Amino acid sequence: MAKKDLLSLVKETDVVRFCQGLVRIKSVNPPGDELQAAEYVAAVLKKIGLEVELIKHSATRASVLARLKSSRKRPGLLYNGHLDTVPIGSEKWTHKPFDADLSEGKIWGRGTSDMKGGLAVLMAAAKGLAEARILLQGDLIIAATAGEEEDSLGATAVAPQPDLGPVQAIVIPEPSYNALYVAEKGAFWLEITTQGKTAHGSMPELGRNAIMMMMTLISELGKMTFPYKEHHLLGGFTHSINTIAGGMKTNVVPDQCGHCGYADRPWTGSPCYLEAGRGSYRRS
Ligand SMILES: [Zn+2]
Repeated sequence: MAKKDLLSLVKETDVVRFCQGLVRIKSVNPPGDELQAAEYVAAVLKKIGLEVELIKHSATRASVLARLKSSRKRPGLLYNGHLDTVPIGSEKWTHKPFDADLSEGKIWGRGTSDMKGGLAVLMAAAKGLAEARILLQGDLIIAATAGEEEDSLGATAVAPQPDLGPVQAIVIPEPSYNALYVAEKGAFWLEITTQGKTAHGSMPELGRNAIMMMMTLISELGKMTFPYKEHHLLGGFTHSINTIAGGMKTNVVPDQCGHCGYADRPWTGSPCYLEAGRGSYRRS
């Protein structure tokens, strides 16, 4: 089948419908809550005729592994997209973030770009192929995964699934201005906490200031060189301090800095995160 004919199988109306359907289901991470979005993807793909498995991670979180069966003469092709989005932030939105309004030729909302739009494209492509009843030589596998914005919980659960089978390529439609990226650096997130000792702010000599300790540590990190092997496409190593929090009161010497403040752990600050790696290689 010619490339032009193949592309005509993917209907824009499906892409819009699936994207709006996904954006209207809130799956902001943290905390994730991808279950409903996963159920939506699972229901659509099942209706299309794919073999679908819902992989539950907890009462509120899940991923989907689906398959359009083939003659299995060749390894499969894996389409992967994530179900979670980043938070909506504190700025006022011109359109409500979970209404998925269609206006000025665009869908507006949290996750339309990263990456419910991409996920919608994968679903629409699978629908086009399934409806055309083309017997593929390798399975088309769709993995819609939870937790990409945090710890890749879904991908970690899906990757070792025994029925995933061999795949010859993985396509991930993350937003890339429609450019093709063929390599991606890994990321290593380091969470650092300095522990000090509280004292009254008027007698700092009696305490140990955790914020000052963190400042020293960050300054030392900036001077350090890390060993790495230069990659022919991705180049070298990068690192960046991206969040920090510390202290409890203006008149108290802080005993903690950089502590993680997620719901399942006490304290209200943010972690001090060092992110190492990250970056993509764009094929020109
Ligand atoms: Zn993304």
